[in-house]
Amino acid sequence: MTTLVMKFGGTSVGNADALTQVADILLAQTREWDRIAVVVSAMNGVTDALIQGARTAASGDRQTYPKILSELQARHQHAVDQLISSEGERKDLWSTLDQYLDEFATLCHSVSVLGEVTPRAMDAITSIGERMIVRILACLLRQHGKRCMAMDATELIVTDAKFQNAVPRMDITRERVSDRLLPLLIDGVVPVVTGVIGATEDGITTTLGRGGSDYTAAILSDCLDADEVWIWTDVDGVMAADPNLVPDARVIPVLSYSEVSEMAYFGAKVLHPKTIRPIIERDTPLWVKNTFRPTGSGTQIVRDPRVADGKIKAVTAIKGLSMLTVEGRGMLGVPGIAARTFSAVAGQGVSVLMISQASSEQSICFVIPSPTVSSVVQAIEEEMALELARRDIDRVWSLDDVVIITAVGAGLRHTPGIDALIFGALGRASINVIAIAQGSSECSLSLVVAAEDAAQAIEHIHREVILNG
Ligand code: ADP
Ligand code: ASP
Ligand code: MG
Repeated sequence: MTTLVMKFGGTSVGNADALTQVADILLAQTREWDRIAVVVSAMNGVTDALIQGARTAASGDRQTYPKILSELQARHQHAVDQLISSEGERKDLWSTLDQYLDEFATLCHSVSVLGEVTPRAMDAITSIGERMIVRILACLLRQHGKRCMAMDATELIVTDAKFQNAVPRMDITRERVSDRLLPLLIDGVVPVVTGVIGATEDGITTTLGRGGSDYTAAILSDCLDADEVWIWTDVDGVMAADPNLVPDARVIPVLSYSEVSEMAYFGAKVLHPKTIRPIIERDTPLWVKNTFRPTGSGTQIVRDPRVADGKIKAVTAIKGLSMLTVEGRGMLGVPGIAARTFSAVAGQGVSVLMISQASSEQSICFVIPSPTVSSVVQAIEEEMALELARRDIDRVWSLDDVVIITAVGAGLRHTPGIDALIFGALGRASINVIAIAQGSSECSLSLVVAAEDAAQAIEHIHREVILNG
């Protein structure tokens, strides 16, 4: 028995033409695979619109969310009108969609009364986009004669109660999937499952974080022991750089799990960073493909690509960051400074993106999202009050407007001198590197540069090290 899990992103289901394309892809694959499960994101822009509705409602604005509601209604209804030929089915779908939109209005109204939107309310509100689209796609596939069923992942993926960034509890999720999803697949039904959503054990809706539908596909693939996972998106595959920043970036034919993990973690939006975790445990081949050019070869992601060409394959960037430095001569040889620094950071619920310590032990530098800087500096100053008073630590300071640029490729592990190519490219462009860190997987090298240098740094690394390297 062969099992395939396919996930379609927001642009792939963004209008009637795209949905028709998705249906064609699905129908073609149902002839090739015994069992197919489908995961779908909300139409592109819908999650953002729902968030905007919630936020404006929280600020007391009761005009914006009804406008958003009408736009969402028009957009979804338009797709339904273009796609669904039976009048009865169309009316049923309209009224189902209206129920979700009513729920959106009710939730936004409550938020406006309370004057705040809690993470829990935000998850309930943002889940609506996915709940609507799965119903439309399932109806379209039925019209093509395919037996299928729209399903809310709240029935399948059980998570903790960390709203907006929930962590799945794989043991219970596995049971749910084998009780509720597997029987459908065995019966030849194609389930069309909402991406990004889960629920606590008590059934309260949670989400796995922005862009989390890729992760949903990986979780289901793990629970179903799928043979392959295909992520369908709006570009030809994983590219050597963000195509919005580097228009001539090419598709990378094959990547390893570690390489793509580094890329996703360090800013390549094409895959959610957590996607690889469930996939890697079962060695499931993962493909990234373009919905709008389905015959293209896409990117294949496996454990050990046979072609190890010893090169840098990609460059990524994360913007909106600050670099914090804790420095002082009295830190030399004193155990525990780093541990206390990072526990103060963790106490603020902030995760550190990159760390670099000068070998003189006189400073620790790390990079965090800019909006968290003031609370983190305060927490460290409180933790180190004694050391600051004794002048063992001179100061805790931040450098704002920095970007992490990461070069990724297994070549970093195997090929001596590859780092020199990167620094050479930056040197020729007169770009100052503020800090450096090499990932422990040895397939990434991260550099901190000023935000104003980021675009040039990416372009030079792409041109001199990837294209001509
Ligand atoms: P989806 O809705 O299909 O999940 P996303 O917008 O989340 O799509 O991810 C796909 C987008 O990621 C692409 O349209 C592209 O703009 C962006 N992207 C950023 N870096 C890369 C990269 N290295 N390779 C491919 N796409 C990238
Ligand atoms: N629709 C969700 C988002 O925009 C999930 C996803 O696209 O993966 O974050
Ligand atoms: Mg995405």
